Amino acid sequence: MKSHNPVLAGYGTTIFTVMSALAVEHEAINLGQGYPDTDGPTDIRRVAADALSEGSNQYPPMLGVPELRQATADHNNRLYDLGIDWQTETMVSCGATEAIAASIFGIIEPGDEAVMIEPLYDCYLPLLERAGGIPKLVRVEPPGWDLPYDKLEQAFSAKTKLLVLNTPMNPAAKVFTLQELEFIASLLEKYDAYAICDEVYEHLVYDGQQHIPLMTLPGMRERCVRVSSAGKTFSMTGWKVGYSVGASDLITAAAKAHQFLTFTTAPNLQKAVAYGLAKENSYFRKLGQDMQAKRDRLARGLAEIGFEVLNTEGTYFLTTDFRPLGFLDDDMQFCQHLTTEAGVAAVPFSAFYQGADVKHYARFCFCKRDEMLDAALEKLRIHFVR
Ligand code: PMP
Ligand code: GLN
Repeated sequence: MKSHNPVLAGYGTTIFTVMSALAVEHEAINLGQGYPDTDGPTDIRRVAADALSEGSNQYPPMLGVPELRQATADHNNRLYDLGIDWQTETMVSCGATEAIAASIFGIIEPGDEAVMIEPLYDCYLPLLERAGGIPKLVRVEPPGWDLPYDKLEQAFSAKTKLLVLNTPMNPAAKVFTLQELEFIASLLEKYDAYAICDEVYEHLVYDGQQHIPLMTLPGMRERCVRVSSAGKTFSMTGWKVGYSVGASDLITAAAKAHQFLTFTTAPNLQKAVAYGLAKENSYFRKLGQDMQAKRDRLARGLAEIGFEVLNTEGTYFLTTDFRPLGFLDDDMQFCQHLTTEAGVAAVPFSAFYQGADVKHYARFCFCKRDEMLDAALEKLRIHFVR
């Protein structure tokens, strides 16, 4: 038999699927894969249900239903003053993932270089490599995750066409500062490169810090595709409704791929997300406030048990160093042990790196009901403390 495509065949099953399956097998509390354990707002689900039973269930327009494209533009204009034209500068996709894939496929030619910042969300690298792009990886390092300006600049060259920027960043839970974004913007201009800005956690930023889209910086309006997702903003990760904004030529490039990848997204879900995006600012503020309280609950408990807990500025995730517990094996062994022996699943941090050298951190997800967080902490206490 002939071989399959080696780029994708070279990747294993995603760590999120692996850890969730292990959690199910051992009936562990799943603080691994990032998804809420409650469903999102009832009114939004009601709009989706009504649109399903009363509206059209045929192919919607390729770039998205007008209601959601308008709501995406309005949301971006209201929050970030981006002046988005809904008819030429928005695109709806099957989750943020498809928008990222479509943007990469639309922009990258074989041999183009793309700068990415490790630790990396899982889909960036395989998609880039499948498109024939060449990754240039730069790391931010714990505990501060500061952007190393010199190394970032060294990663850029005349061949750089793209930077993939994730802020708030999964899994480091870092929120890029204005100063860091200004430096990134200066490099994009200097090297004439584009940015795919994965901002799915835009409303999950804590301690009064502010999420700043790179696209709002001078000169960046024409260089960025800014991607977000209903999964995180409305706590319904299964919906897979993504919405992006960007200059019309970039959206057109991404749409060329989108039309052949999925073409459209379920119309009733699009209408419900349009309704959701029009909510008052207070909805989006409260989402962040509620999540910050969960972060504090889990961080406090894990620290009491003996984990070293790193700072979480945004996202659903907490990073912990487990060596203070006396566990000196690698992170995959630790997370397997935690799932099978303590009954709590977490994600090994090395999954977000290419090198094998980062191996004593575990990522915990805190977008769960308080009683689940407490139950997970109790299991960990019984295992490690008593
Ligand atoms: N980007 C990041 C950083 C993520 O954590 C996730 C996971 N939810 C996604 C993209 C994918 O989003 P979606 O489910 O909308 O495809
Ligand atoms: N974004 C989620 C996480 O980081 C997982 C998404 C997925 O399973 N593909 O946990």
